[in-house]
Amino acid sequence: MKAYQEMNQDELKTLHQQLSKQYQDMKDLHLQLNMARGKPDFSQVELSMPMLDTINSHYDFSKQKDYCNYGILDGIDEAKKFFADMVETTPDQIIVYGNSSLTIMFDQISRGYTHGYLGNTPWCRLDKIKFLCPVPGYDRHFAITEHFGFEMIPIPMDDNGPDMDLVEKYVQEDESVKGIWCVPQYANPSGITYSDEVVERFAHLKPAAKDFRIFWDNAYVVHHLYNDKQSHVKDILKACQDAGHPDMVFEFCSTSKVTFPGAGVAAMATSMNNKKDTLKHMTVQSIGHDKLNQLRHAKYFQNFESLTEHMQKQADLLRPKFEMVIDIFEKELADLQIGTWTKPLGGYFITFEALQDCAKDIVQKCKEAGVILTDAGATFPYGKDPHDSIIRIAPSYPPLEELKQATDLFVLCVKLVSVEKLLE
Ligand code: PLP
Repeated sequence: MKAYQEMNQDELKTLHQQLSKQYQDMKDLHLQLNMARGKPDFSQVELSMPMLDTINSHYDFSKQKDYCNYGILDGIDEAKKFFADMVETTPDQIIVYGNSSLTIMFDQISRGYTHGYLGNTPWCRLDKIKFLCPVPGYDRHFAITEHFGFEMIPIPMDDNGPDMDLVEKYVQEDESVKGIWCVPQYANPSGITYSDEVVERFAHLKPAAKDFRIFWDNAYVVHHLYNDKQSHVKDILKACQDAGHPDMVFEFCSTSKVTFPGAGVAAMATSMNNKKDTLKHMTVQSIGHDKLNQLRHAKYFQNFESLTEHMQKQADLLRPKFEMVIDIFEKELADLQIGTWTKPLGGYFITFEALQDCAKDIVQKCKEAGVILTDAGATFPYGKDPHDSIIRIAPSYPPLEELKQATDLFVLCVKLVSVEKLLE
């Protein structure tokens, strides 16, 4: 196949006619498919159904009566151990919450805003608050910082993580920079894992603001797609501790994509100082989270090995979907030079980079033919992708057959929009 950029106008016009016809045929199928969000499909959540039987009305609570009552604000010991193993830290650095890590992140930002961290001035009393946002990134992170009115500064990323020269410059020179959003392992959506060097450079930051925090969202810490090819991000808490900045990081994780999204358990790992400070506020906010769900999870995953085994089963369901999408891209697009894509080893997303100024049109064309994708631009602060080229593909939710149809349509729309751009 000839690269589109090498075609002359006549060739492009003929191709455009053929592709338009194919697009109309696809439209006539009246597809109704959704690849917008990275949700597990039912076969994945079904794997966790036996967990619901670990505690029932016959369960012997005689030694755990407190678990059935108010209290134990920072979570039960078994759940602290579970999350400590998950993010490779110690149980005393963990607070176990309710069902969502995103809620913890929102609350942490909110505490910084209304009361300040460790005695620092609450952010609401300052004129300007800035947050660094590695891009492409997670739209819901950006939605939180936008909600609080912070200025978001995009930071480009490469295969090793965010551009650390830029991060250091902003963090070390500007006191109004109070935080950075990070998804350090199998990032949403690029799938990259931060290198050890990047983690060390984070740990050695010398922030101008005393209350600068790294929001380390380790959502995909155990979400490998392969047994033999895995990435592991270095432990940021230990790195910060060793570098003499123990309070600089809040690390988040959850079982949303381990067991049940919306009915899992979430946790934060941080220094003892931060933990004490956070609990002071939480005491006012809550009398304790759902400890029965915490116990259910801790009982079901007795140790880290059983969690690993469970995640391998998840990977067996997810991997064919990722591989099918990537195979279609390779077959249909590799020679045409109208896009590139990631081949992640874990997480939930493939990132597609189209030709400049094409992403919005591709997403729109897919929508008109019945396939909903994540909005173009959503992976950038304020929804603004400066090159209008990045599209997040979420292959997990549709069944394989539907995913194939959706990917075929996507590829067709990439071709059609690219030809239209080249004809302009
Ligand atoms: N963080 C990242 C990077 C995610 O991709 C997601 C969900 O897609 C979440 C957090 C949401 O996590 P939770 O369900 O624990 O709120």
